[in-house]
Amino acid sequence: MRNFAYLRPDSAKDAVAMLTASQPGARYFAGGTTLYDLMKLGVEAPQTVVDITGIEELRGIDVSPKGGIRVGALVPMSDLAEHAMLKQNFPAISESLWKAASQQLRNMATIGGNLLQRTRCPYFRGSPEFACNKRAPGSGCSAIGGANRAHAVLGASSACAAVYPGDLAVALVAFDAVIETISPRGQRFVAVRDLHVVPGSTPAIEHVLAPDELIVRIEIPMTPAGRASAYHKIRDRESYAFALASAACGVHLAANEVVDVRIALGGVATRPWRASAAERSLIGKPLTRQSARRAAEIAFAEAVPLQHNRYKIALGIETVIDALMLAKDRS
Ligand code: SF4
Repeated sequence: MRNFAYLRPDSAKDAVAMLTASQPGARYFAGGTTLYDLMKLGVEAPQTVVDITGIEELRGIDVSPKGGIRVGALVPMSDLAEHAMLKQNFPAISESLWKAASQQLRNMATIGGNLLQRTRCPYFRGSPEFACNKRAPGSGCSAIGGANRAHAVLGASSACAAVYPGDLAVALVAFDAVIETISPRGQRFVAVRDLHVVPGSTPAIEHVLAPDELIVRIEIPMTPAGRASAYHKIRDRESYAFALASAACGVHLAANEVVDVRIALGGVATRPWRASAAERSLIGKPLTRQSARRAAEIAFAEAVPLQHNRYKIALGIETVIDALMLAKDRS
C-alpha cells in the first residue's frame, strides 16, 4: 500500500470542502471494507483519504417528512438490518442486508459505502498483468473468453461483463429508494435505480456520482408491496458469498389480483436490474407459480450468456419465481 494523506472532518460540508481541495486522487472513507481492500490490492491508490466516520449528521434512522424510512449514509449494515421499522415494512431489504457479507463486515460496512462497492471480478482484483478495461481502460477484458462463470448475462458489453456484486442496492431499486447527496454544486437526489450504469465502452465508470459528491442519506418510500416482500439469494455456499442469482420481490394483491409488484435482480447483471416488463406482465392477474414463471422468463428474455455462465438464465428464472412466491406468502 502506498502512503496517503488522512483527513478527518466533523461535518458533511467540511468533508466535501476537504475532498474538493484534495482532488484529484482523493476518496471518502467510511467503513473501509471495500476501499482498504482495493488499496492493499493496488487497484486503488488515493493520495488523500477523507475519513467521514466522525460526522454525526450522517447517522440515524428515522421517518422522513414524506413518511418514508430515512437512513443516514453512515448507518452500519447490521443496524439497518435489525431495525424494527425496516423489518416490518421492507423484509426484503432487511434480508438483503442479512444475506450480505459476514457479521463482522456488516458491523463495519456502511449503507452509503455498500451501494458503491466494486465488482468481485477476479481479473479486476487480481494481477495487473490481466487485461481489464475497468482497472486499466483500453487494456481489454480477460473475462470475456476467460473464466466467466460468475459474470453477467444482462447489461454486459464487449468491453466488460462484471456483475454488480451488492445485495442492498438490488432491494432498494425494487422499492424506488432515493439517495440524497451534497457536493460543491449543492444538494441533489438520485434514484438508486439511476445510480449505477451499464459498462458500455467505459467500464471504469460505474455510477453517476461525481468524485466529490457525498451520499448523505437514503430514503425508502412506503409502499404496500414492501410489506409483502422477500430477498432470495442463491450462492455457492449459504454464508459469506456473493450472489450467483438473487431477486428482490414485493407484491400488493387485492381480490387475488396483482395491484403492484416489484422485481429486481442481482448477481446476473452489470448493475442492480429492475425487471419492469416482467412486473407489467403480472398486473391485474392472479399471482400463481405459472404466472410467476412467465414473468421470470420475460425478465431474462434479453439475457446474453458467455461461455461459462449460461446456467444463470435458468437459475435466475427459478430464483425470481421462488422470490415471488415467498412474497405472496407474506401478503
Ligand atoms: Fe475487467 Fe470487467 Fe473484464 Fe472483469 S469483466 S476483466 S472487470 S473489464
